[in-house]
Formats: sequence, C-alpha cells, structure tokens
Amino acid sequence: MDLDALARNARVLADVAGTPWLAVVKADAYGHGIEAVATTCLAAGATWLGTAQVAEALHLRALLDARGTSRPEPGLDAVPTPDAPRLLAWLVPFLTPEQAAAPGSALRQALAAGIDLSASTPAQVEALAAAARAEGRPARVHLKADTGMSRAGAVAEDVPALAAAARRAEEEGFLDVVGLWSHLSRADEPDSGSTEEHLARFRAAEASVRAAGLTPRVRHLAATGGLLWHPDARLDLVRAGIGLYGLSPDPSVATSSELGLSPVMRLEAPLVQVKRIPAGQAVSYGGTWTAPTDRWLGLVPLGYSDGLPRAAASAGPVSVGGLRTTVVGKVCMDQVVIDLGPAADTEGEPVPAPAAPGDVAVLWGDPGAPGADPATPTADDWAAVCGTINYEIVTRLGARVPRVTAGDGLPASH
Ligand SMILES: *Cc1c(COP(=O)(O)O)cnc(C)c1O
Repeated sequence: MDLDALARNARVLADVAGTPWLAVVKADAYGHGIEAVATTCLAAGATWLGTAQVAEALHLRALLDARGTSRPEPGLDAVPTPDAPRLLAWLVPFLTPEQAAAPGSALRQALAAGIDLSASTPAQVEALAAAARAEGRPARVHLKADTGMSRAGAVAEDVPALAAAARRAEEEGFLDVVGLWSHLSRADEPDSGSTEEHLARFRAAEASVRAAGLTPRVRHLAATGGLLWHPDARLDLVRAGIGLYGLSPDPSVATSSELGLSPVMRLEAPLVQVKRIPAGQAVSYGGTWTAPTDRWLGLVPLGYSDGLPRAAASAGPVSVGGLRTTVVGKVCMDQVVIDLGPAADTEGEPVPAPAAPGDVAVLWGDPGAPGADPATPTADDWAAVCGTINYEIVTRLGARVPRVTAGDGLPASH
C-alpha cells in the first residue's frame, strides 16, 4: 500500500472539492488497512472519517485513541480538525428503545466513543434518544434523506415525521441534529439528469427539516463521483472513498490516470514453483485449460480466499518481470497457475523458463508508478475480465494477505 500515492490522491480530490472532506475507510479502508489509511488521510487534511458499520467506527476510535488522536468538542459549532477528527457511521443497527438503552448496546458504545450516527426513521431517532438518555449525553445525528437511490433514508413524504421526531428529541436534550445527508445513485452518469433530481429532492428535504425547526449544519451528498463530476453536489462536506485509493468511480467516464489518481494497492506474490508441462496437458481443477504447446507454468500462492475472483479463470492478468500473462485454468482457494509461455520454439528446440521461483508476480497495481513494471495489470483490468468493478476487486482482498505499507504519506521534503 503506497501511502505516498494515497496522500497525493487525497490532495488531488481535496483541491477539486474545495470543501472539508471525509475519508471513507469502511471495509478495512477498501481492503487497504484502516489504520494506515486513516492516519495518512488525517495527515493529508481529512477532518472527518467515515465507516458504514458502527463496529468499524468503534474499532477506528480505539485505534485513534491508542495513537493519542484527540476527539473534537461535542458542541454543534465545534469544527473538527485533522488533529481532532469527527467519526461518522451510517449503517446503524436497528434497536428498540429498550435494546438501545441497555448497558453496552452498540448505540451507547457509539455515543460514548463520540461517533456521529445516521438516522432515517422516527424509530431510529427514538432508539438514539433512548441510548442518549441512558448514556447521559446527546446523540449527534445526521438525518438521512432518500433522494433517489431507494436504499437508506427517508423519502419525501416521510421526511416531516423524521424531522418532527428529531426535533422532539432535540428539545428534550437527547439529540443534536448535526447534518442532513443523502447518497447519489448515478453520479457516474454525468448527463443522465439523475444527480440534478437528487439535488432537487435534497433541497426539498432540507426545507422540510428547517420548517420543523432544525438547522443541519453539515449537508453532504457527494461520494467520489459526485465530488468529481457534480460541483453542485459538493455542499458542506464530501465523502471520498474510491478516489483516495487511486481508482476511478467509473473508468468509462475517466480513468484513474486521466483523473490524476494513482492506485495505492499492489497485490503481488513470489512464485512458489516454475515447471514445464507438455502440449495437451490440462491445468487446475476440471482441466478447463489445456497447454497448446509445451509450456512453462508458474505457481502463485494466492487464490479465491485471498480475493481473486473465480471469474478470473484463464483470464486474470498477471505480470512477471516485464512479461504480461494470465491465470490459466480455474482459480483455487489458495493458489493459481499462470502461463509463462512456450517451453519449445517452432523447431522444437527448448526455450528457457522466463521466470524462476521467487520472482515476483504482480496481479494488480499501478503500471505508472516510478520503477513499476509497465506490464503491471490494474484493478480495473481485473474488474473488466471478471465482469465486476474495481471496488469489488480491492475490497475483497482476503484477511490473510499481509498488508505492507510503503512511503510515509507525508509531502516530499524536497
Ligand atoms: C461507500 C460510500 C461512499 C464512498 O463512495 P466512493 O464511490 O467510494 O467514493 C460514500 N458515501 C456512502 C454512503 C457510501 O456508502
């Protein structure tokens, strides 16, 4: 994980956005390792860190506490800083008020840890208020509107009831409405009109929340796609995920290099074995790939439990010492076989192996990084051959793959 690339990406996105930004570090920072990513993003100017799950935010808070990172003042007008960032978790488990008030409930833990939470329904507001009453401190809440994605959030006709519930809890001293937020569903289709519709619905939700007597200070709507392609959606805060990791939200709109972003993750492993097989020999489970000629093969100790999709059978691209090749045959749980080319020339004379055990096979990374093999495949290449998106390729990196960091994430001193 190239922390210098991460820091550069953060600056590129922050410059485009021109607003405060939240670093999205859910799913172990998209597979990159939450602690190194969070601290690098704070050093690069993030004032907010966001996760989906409350459990992820609690884990992050413990990591930050252990590093001596301060918590911001609880007050509504206290502005967070990189030294005292705010944490937000938006996928809050549903609890009844009784469950929420029980000692050690997820909501009480979140409040005690100073984590902002999202609420989409009056029932969620009531659970937060119950947890806050039990914990003896108001819950900091971001009300979520559904502006067209139909995932979490209150649809237009339900916003007044959500706002009324929040207002009641505010008056009782159990809740502080910090923000109003939503999420774009088609930010990577700049000409679809979808984002304009989201924005119109967002404005309507804001009017309805204000009419209930609430003043959400932090309005946020844009993830990386909105940040890049919809200036009107940047509002008070942007939530940057995939772009921080150097990947484009949609390479068909603009590639990462067109956006000036550098992939942070490089997945590599030293070859365990190199061997020759004769023409006609089948490879891996089911024998789905057969050597067309005498062939050199390499064995890579990474499989589907490490995050290589099975859809990459005989397709996943790999580079070894300047050679660009692919996985051959099925992806196994722990290993894949790669083709290293013909073992004999057209006259039948032996061809030496182009790689040796211990040589490093690169599955995905940044072909443009200084000193990188230009044959290096990208997470986008893997996504294309597997029929998925770069997000899924990096976030599925398995737990047993060691995350090794390079760089310190600080601006170059020269
Ligand atoms: C994952 C997520 C983001 C980040 O999206 P990117 O496209 O990776 O920038 C932002 N907001 C919410 C609500 C998310 O779930």
